[in-house]
Amino acid sequence: MPEGLIVKALSGYYYVKPDAAAPGESIQCRGRGIFKKKGQTPLVGDRVIYTPTENGEGMVDEILPRETELVRPPVANAKLAVLLFSLKEPDLNLQLLDKFLVHIEHAGLRTLICLTKEDLLDEAAGGQERDLTGRAKELYEKIGYEVIITSSRTGMGTDEVKSRLAGEISVFSGQSGVGKSSLLNAMLPGLSLETSEISMKLGRGRHTTRHVELIELENGGYVADTPGFSQLDFLELGVEELSSCFREFGEFAEGCKFRGCSHLHEPGCKVRQAAEDGDIAQSRYEHYVQFHQEMKEKKRRY
Ligand code: GDP
Ligand code: ZN
Repeated sequence: MPEGLIVKALSGYYYVKPDAAAPGESIQCRGRGIFKKKGQTPLVGDRVIYTPTENGEGMVDEILPRETELVRPPVANAKLAVLLFSLKEPDLNLQLLDKFLVHIEHAGLRTLICLTKEDLLDEAAGGQERDLTGRAKELYEKIGYEVIITSSRTGMGTDEVKSRLAGEISVFSGQSGVGKSSLLNAMLPGLSLETSEISMKLGRGRHTTRHVELIELENGGYVADTPGFSQLDFLELGVEELSSCFREFGEFAEGCKFRGCSHLHEPGCKVRQAAEDGDIAQSRYEHYVQFHQEMKEKKRRY
């Protein structure tokens, strides 16, 4: 029985791209009633087994096991989050960047960090802005994240980003206005996603549609057309899970004197020690402490 990938879900239909099909080809399918009974919902990104029916449509028979599952946007099998932060307009905000990273780590996705709008860096002021950018890049590379500096205006970094998306399902992420649509448009000349400028002119917000669709790249990659990780409220995360979302804490946390050390005030805490010694970046440790506090306050309120 043929297998395929759900590339779009809309009004009770699933659009399945058969494995051998050319880009852009898909079969409109219904889901079997059995899914409802089992409480299963096929998602965009699901690999499925389907049966073609006479009228050129089809029926989704079975959902193959998922490797990941996101709720917002509802996408299965995404393995890469492309996290965009602009260097200017708005300015780079490392606290917010770390917050996104926590959520992406928790969802179990790999991350590619893109620092966008490189063309806006001011050459004046003794190259200060460039130094700051370089330091941020270094900080995140040191803890194992790949960082690409991009500009959708000059095309800087776009081919590199695109090559990282090959053969994967990715979700773009980052606050609004950082250049997600612009970068996708720059990578896909045929595509024209609305950028904030345009949607403001038209007097409406973007992403008002409830359906999700995968945008297909010619290198076998797919990108969800709706940004992910827009809710950063920590409600789905346990306080005890937070430190494992700071990937560089792990090797130090093993040496902490107490099991379940919160790395806040306990004596013999190797994480705090590493932050003091500069083996963990100060900004990262500070954000950890801030998020910890924020989570505890939220838990108290709900
Ligand atoms: P999104 O909300 O993250 O999808 O961001 P958009 O792609 O809509 O971009 C927001 C604004 O930033 C728009 O006015 C874009 O024209 C602008 N912008 C996006 N990328 C760049 C870039 O690389 N350089 C410059 N100078 N402006 C950019
Ligand atoms: Zn500790």
